[in-house]
Amino acid sequence: MPIRKDPPDTERLDRVVADARRAREERDKGYRERALKLYPWICGRCAREFDRSNLYELTVHHKDHNHDNNPPDGSNWELLCLYCHDNEHQRSLDQPGALAGRSDSAPPATHTPFAELASLLKRDR
Ligand SMILES: [Zn+2]
Ligand SMILES: [Zn+2]
Repeated sequence: MPIRKDPPDTERLDRVVADARRAREERDKGYRERALKLYPWICGRCAREFDRSNLYELTVHHKDHNHDNNPPDGSNWELLCLYCHDNEHQRSLDQPGALAGRSDSAPPATHTPFAELASLLKRDR
């Protein structure tokens, strides 16, 4: 009599991951379609206009960067072309204080990383 083994846990995990991905894809599709119905097909940054032939280049940006925040009135969405969307995210990653005002002077160095590195190397030897 063969020993029946329970299916390995990874199978269950795979299914859970697949379900989550499907749900996410459906949700993404949902808000994109809603945003496209709500707003004119124009990039909010460079004002480039879109039509059916290049609509795939128009993306939905979440103003608060929270993809789970999808109010039905679309107040958290902004239609951006791929390039402006990229820029938008780059900007917020590079300069967390960008919205608070820019400063051209570099922040004062509070420590010297290379000195630490040197002592680490010495310790290893
Ligand atoms: Zn644009
Ligand atoms: Zn975005």
